Formats: sequence, C-alpha cells, structure tokens
Amino acid sequence: MLLKKAKDLLRSYFGYEQFRQGQDVIIQHVLGGHDTLGIMPTGGGKSVCYQIPSLMLRGITLVISPLISLMKDQVDALEKLGIPSTYINSSISDEEMRERLSGVYHGKFKLIYIAPERLESPSFLRLLRQVHISLIAVDEAHCISQWGHDFRPSYLKIQKLIAGIRPKPVVLALTATATLQVREDIRQLLHIREKHVVVTGFARENLHFHVVKGQDRDLFLMDYLKKNSGQAGIIYAATRKEVERLQRQLAGKGIKAGKYHAGMSETARSQYQEQFLYDDIQVMVATNAFGMGINKSNVRFVIHYNLPGNLEAYYQEAGRAGRDGVDSDCILLFSPQDSHIQSFLIEQSEMDELRKENEYGKLRKMMAYGHTESCLQQYILHYFGEESSVECERCGNCTDDREQIDVTVEAQKVLSCIWRMNEKFGKTMIAKVLTGSSDQKIRSFGFDKLSTYGIMSEKTQKETAELIDFLTAEGYLRPTDGTYPVLMLTEKAADVLRGNQQVKRKEKMSISRVVEDNLLF
Ligand code: ADP
Repeated sequence: MLLKKAKDLLRSYFGYEQFRQGQDVIIQHVLGGHDTLGIMPTGGGKSVCYQIPSLMLRGITLVISPLISLMKDQVDALEKLGIPSTYINSSISDEEMRERLSGVYHGKFKLIYIAPERLESPSFLRLLRQVHISLIAVDEAHCISQWGHDFRPSYLKIQKLIAGIRPKPVVLALTATATLQVREDIRQLLHIREKHVVVTGFARENLHFHVVKGQDRDLFLMDYLKKNSGQAGIIYAATRKEVERLQRQLAGKGIKAGKYHAGMSETARSQYQEQFLYDDIQVMVATNAFGMGINKSNVRFVIHYNLPGNLEAYYQEAGRAGRDGVDSDCILLFSPQDSHIQSFLIEQSEMDELRKENEYGKLRKMMAYGHTESCLQQYILHYFGEESSVECERCGNCTDDREQIDVTVEAQKVLSCIWRMNEKFGKTMIAKVLTGSSDQKIRSFGFDKLSTYGIMSEKTQKETAELIDFLTAEGYLRPTDGTYPVLMLTEKAADVLRGNQQVKRKEKMSISRVVEDNLLF
C-alpha cells in the first residue's frame, strides 16, 4: 500500500515509471520505521530513497552531506519539482542563514540539506530539537568510518544528534563505497541492523573488464588506441612523471592526447578537461586527480596503466567508462611489481599503523583481482558485499576460451607445505621451500627436513610464487593483514587437501600465442 503511494510519487514528481533495483526495498524499510543502510553505486539513484519518504512522512527530512557544491543543485531541482527545500552551509551569507533558519523553525521546508560541520553548532542543534525531524538521511555515510577513504570527524556527531531528538527519527545511511569493514562500522555507529542493509546495483551491464598481463604495456596501449581510434578514453597512471611520459609518447605517435595531474596549473588542467569533454582530444592521460566531477558520458574505455591502491578506487575510476550505457572496456594492465608503488604510498602516508595494515589488506585484494581467473565483475561485486551468483559472460576471464587444466596435485603440494610450515610464513619463503632453495634461513628453520622441501623443484621460484598468487586469488589461501602477510589455509584449502575438491586453472598461454594476440589486437 505504502509502496504503491511511493510509486505514484515517483511517477508524479520525478517522472519515472519504475523503481531501480534496491530503491523500493530501501524506501519500504524507511517507511516501516527501520534504520537502514543503502549501498548503491554512484548514479544508482540514492537521492530518491529519501526524497520520496520525505514526501510521505510528516515533519522534516534532514540530509547530511559533505558535498557542498552539489547541495545547491539538489535544492534547485527539488524546488522546481515543487518540493520546498533549502540548504545550510558555509557558502551562504549570515543574513541568508538567519532567514533560512527562521524558515526551518516555521516549518517552511520538507527537506533541509546540511554539511556535517553544522552539527558542531550548539544553536543549530537546539533548533533541530524544536522542530519535527522524521528522517535523517546520511549521504556519503562512509565518511563516518575511520576505515573509509574519506573520514570526517564531524560525522561522528551524527550519533549524538540522533540521540538528542524526540521522537527518534528514522535514519537512512547511504553510500556508494563501502567495504565490509566500513559497512560494519556504519552499521554499528548508527545502530542499523544487518537485515536492514541493502547492497545493490553495483553491476554495470555494459562494462567489459579485462586484466592484461605478461605483455609490453606501451605496445599494448598503442595497438589498442590504433584499433579504437575515434573513441574517447581515459588512461590512468600512478605518477605525474608517468603521465607526462605517456602523453608525450602518444602525442609523438599522432594520437590526440591530453594530460591531467595535480602538478599542472589550474588553467592547463581545465583546458585539457574542456577539450576532452568536447571530443577535441581522444584520450586523457591522468593521475587519479582526474575524475571527480567530470561528467562525460561517452567514455568508451578506461585503461589503468598502473595498479590502483584498492578496488574502491579502481571501480570508481573504471566506472567512468560507459555512463551512456554503451558497451565499454575497463582494462587493467597488470604488473605485480606495481604493488611496490602503492606500498610506498601507504608507507609514506601519515596513517597510523593499524590503518596502514588495513590499506595493505586492500592492496592485496586489488592484487588478487589481477591474479584471479574467475569472473572479474563477480570478484568486484563480492568485494563490495553484493552477493551475485551469476558470471558476467563479458569480462576477459569469462570470455577466455583457453582449456582448463587440473592442477589439484600441484595445489595439494603447496597447501600441504604451508600446513607443514605451521601457516606462519609468506609467499616468498613458501616458494623457496617448495623449490628446494638452499637459503640459509630455510636450514635454520629446519624446513629442508620437511617432506615438501623441493617437492616442486622442476618449477622456478617465480612460477611457484605465481601459483601461490593464483591460489590466494581463488580463496584457497587467506593472507593476514600487515606488511609481511602470512598465508593461512582456508576451509576451501582443507577440502582440496582431503581430496574433496579439484583445482582447475586456465592453461598457460604459449609465447607464440602472446605475440600473436599482441599483433592482432
Ligand atoms: P546517486 O546519488 O546514487 O549518485 P542520484 O540520486 O543522483 O544518484 O540519481 C542518479 C540519476 O538517476 C538521477 O538523474 C536520477 O534522477 C535518476 N534516477 C533515480 N531514480 C530513478 C528511477 N527509478 N528511474 C530512472 N531514473 C532514476
């Protein structure tokens, strides 16, 4: 009944016929009086999830958001639809502020947008206690978590705000990026029950994910750009220096390439951005400084020349492809050594030890994305906590038609070696024991006496380490957090050791095939 009314409002106010995936569930929870956490990708339609309930509930909906620049647009759009709303943040004059606050007091608005800093003002909090707040929407809710990538201390004031309002308002927390850890944090800090967490809509049906490895990156790039001339795309590189080098190289080959990084002047940056928006240049070579706020819908490919620090960053950047719904490529040029750049950035940062360890953990999951042979889209969705059993049938792994070979025996060798080493060591040490290295350290631990010592001596240490990476990516091994992760066996590994589960791996590409593919691409 309530949902029918909500749907009518969706049609009459917003002009949409159907709720998008998740919107209806979130709205139903909110109208049922349940505090809710909604996790949806950018552009998924989070605003409607509180705007529609605000029209159905008596009293005011308070929207807390750190995105000051977007508040005006939102409020203008709502006013156009005939929904009385306002925003209160540092961008307005004192005079204007007084007027708006008086408007709040006199019940002139259905929706009020505020920046979290406003919660530091005792007089504002007093005002909120004098009016009827029925719903508090916490936008960008990941800002409440110290584990998130954009922690805002004033977000922690939200708890106190909620506790001080009677009757208790319903809380709707919304975010586009939340790892399991961040999601748990939001849930606990805002007292949201697990059954009222809605994660949805992260799949992007038109994105084709690919991981390219073992190829010369520059050659690959040139071939790809030649094959896709006339298509717009972004190439992300890790450092300013790399951006400069790549842009020079591409421009030297006659490709219209712009560049963007924080070391350039404001004017140069906006010139390139403008040219890119108007299709005057084909590609933008950029650091991760490029992207916030660009809204170009026909980006046909996003290529990561280097490994990003975590999957949140990767999915956000890669997701700038294909906003118009047209098929687009998201390609990661994967070179495991790139993790050193990211480790360096973590090490150099001012984060405390605990956070650094957490960042290392996220980096390892990013690495595992490069190593996995399963569906890439599914890997990403699982990372974000969205359960999805279907494979995308589009990504590089789903469309990889190489034969699968049975590597159960090899996997058993690795896993039993780890077990015999008491699950206390990392990849390098394990690979050394398996290949029978004469390292002094191995002898001092007595590992040369293990039955698994040298059991894979026909392989190189690098090949063995690669197999270990594969087993980690596929969930047979779980690395601990920290700078020097120790590999532990998982339940899945126990099944393999007991002979209850087979391990299959795509046949390694022969050298001639790599060369051929490179030429054909
Ligand atoms: P988010 O805050 O999740 O990034 P928005 O709330 O800004 O996303 O919504 C993104 C776009 O989707 C907006 O243009 C919005 O009007 C549109 N939209 C939202 N809900 C629907 C719907 N049910 N059907 C069609 N379009 C929708």
